[in-house]
Amino acid sequence: MRQFTPTTEVDFVIIGSGAAGGIMAKQLSIAGLKVVVLEQGGWGKYGHEQDYTKDEWLNDNPNDADRLMSDPSRQRNTFRRSDKDKATAGSHSYGCVVGGGTVTYGGSSWRHLPYEFNEATHVGTIAGTGMADWPITYEEIEPYYTKAEWELGIAGQRVNSPFVAPMSQDYPVPPMPLKASGALFKVAASKLGLTVVEGAVAIISKPYMGRSGCVNCGMCSGFGCHVKARSSTAVTMIPAAIKSGNCEVRTNSYVREISTDATGRVTGVTYFDANKREIFQRAKAVVLSANAGESARLLLMSKSARFPNGLANSSGIVGKYLMLGGGASASGLLEHPLNDYKGIVTGAGIVDYVPSDPKRGFYGGGRMTARGFDTPINYALRGLLPGAPRWGAGYKKALQEEATHKMTVSCFVTQLPLETNRVDLDPEVKDDWGLPAMRITSTSHPDDIKNMEFFRQKSIEVLEAAGAKRIFAPPVGDSRGGAHNRGTCRMGNDPKTSVVNKFHRAHDVPNLFIVDGSNLVTGGRNHPTMTIQALAFRAAENIVKAAKAGTLTRL
Ligand SMILES: Cc1cc2nc3c(=O)[nH]c(=O)nc-3n(C[C@H](O)[C@H](O)[C@H](O)COP(=O)(O)OP(=O)(O)OC[C@H]3O[C@@H](n4cnc5c(N)ncnc54)[C@H](O)[C@@H]3O)c2cc1C
Ligand code: SF4
Repeated sequence: MRQFTPTTEVDFVIIGSGAAGGIMAKQLSIAGLKVVVLEQGGWGKYGHEQDYTKDEWLNDNPNDADRLMSDPSRQRNTFRRSDKDKATAGSHSYGCVVGGGTVTYGGSSWRHLPYEFNEATHVGTIAGTGMADWPITYEEIEPYYTKAEWELGIAGQRVNSPFVAPMSQDYPVPPMPLKASGALFKVAASKLGLTVVEGAVAIISKPYMGRSGCVNCGMCSGFGCHVKARSSTAVTMIPAAIKSGNCEVRTNSYVREISTDATGRVTGVTYFDANKREIFQRAKAVVLSANAGESARLLLMSKSARFPNGLANSSGIVGKYLMLGGGASASGLLEHPLNDYKGIVTGAGIVDYVPSDPKRGFYGGGRMTARGFDTPINYALRGLLPGAPRWGAGYKKALQEEATHKMTVSCFVTQLPLETNRVDLDPEVKDDWGLPAMRITSTSHPDDIKNMEFFRQKSIEVLEAAGAKRIFAPPVGDSRGGAHNRGTCRMGNDPKTSVVNKFHRAHDVPNLFIVDGSNLVTGGRNHPTMTIQALAFRAAENIVKAAKAGTLTRL
């Protein structure tokens, strides 16, 4: 791998190597630009290239070098529902490894539908929310969805349905085989008059671009893929970036500040290395791809006399309109074994409730997915339905029967963007590096709660129609943080109400680009990653143009 010294002024520092950062690394470096990627996590490979572990205990209790997710006991964060409450210890955790969240994600890769880019116009603004149209249309982003699907390797079935985004090309590989829960979804949907589609996943169903197809090992979401079938940026984009000879990926590099000069331009970044030594890396421009939570936190930590409220924050919008992701679910036991723990997490989705329908009396929509999720230790500790014995022979019998017969419906639904829902810096709590902890303030809008309850009821109906006997549907509630966070640095045309422009350039800082889940103006029906990645390909194309035109440091 190419190495650069910190005193060398590279063309770009990219902060974070995840869903978006990995794409930025590849696209900028293959265009001939000199790139240093600073990733706070490691390679996560247990000593061998791409050899992610399938040991459930080790995966849940990793050594630092093998860690795939952030550790909230050291990267502390706090949570409160509103400004009136005192924030208490939070459990927010996200992919923290080369490849970011894409190393462990379930891989559901739905596109946003065309109207999801202009829902304010489509359904009307909703009182008390920051519902707004995006500065781009579906037509503008569609070619980049296609590019992302083909470059990453997405399996799926192109369908002609009002509930699914239209596509200009097929997926590069066929859909994954239907799981038992998917087949039962079809049985239920035909009884209820609903539509099932085989959802797109970032998991290849057959060999593609030198990678193996999925071998259905069953330890999927939450684990790294040992055969490279999951199309994480760690196995798709990062290797190509390194091969270009223009990119260094520097791991265990935790960025604490983006620095600027007297003219307000970025000069580089300061980070802690593995030994907590501070290092300054010079750069002509910075791409911030640290995810919706960390990107906002880093901007707020990068205060200076010129940017007293944090970098790129003259609008005061940085950190605001956070969407953590709402959901609803129900599980039931079927008469015959499904063995749904095998294979990937999910494939099939019921899509009829994707659009918001005024007849329901609230704003909201979402997708229902059929899934089997639990791995053995997790199942034994948390998977049994309420009422099952937790000790002795009865416990063993319950495990034997339930683990094989359980089907879960998980719904991924809309969450309205509220200005009060945000990431900021906790005034008291610090992380292990002495930096202010991320503080999350979040409460769902009443429509979000009604929507979640709607999907909870629909999940029960679907399970009943599938023939489930004992059904348990946990009560719905606010999310406290997690991997699907979006918003916080929204894109827009007006510098007073957005942080970046439609090409991801910070309104306030010409040579700072923010490209990750933070840019989403509205959250879609959750599952944001395919949109984040299409945006990244589009952003990279425009950033390369700006670099070649010599307009990186001026607007
Ligand atoms: C278990 C799991 C299942 C999921 N399933 C799905 C799914 O099925 N479908 C879907 O759409 N989404 C899913 N997600 C969410 C998905 O992973 C995220 O939407 C996506 O990864 C966000 O992309 P991003 O580029 O914004 O940030 P990330 O992919 O999170 O990348 C950010 C990177 O920046 C690094 N970083 C952060 N701060 C710093 C710093 N200060 N210095 C240096 N590096 C830093 C992080 O370590 C990370 O590697 C899942 C996530 C998890 C964890
Ligand atoms: S189920 Fe398939 S994609 Fe998932 S980790 Fe196993 S082999 Fe990889």
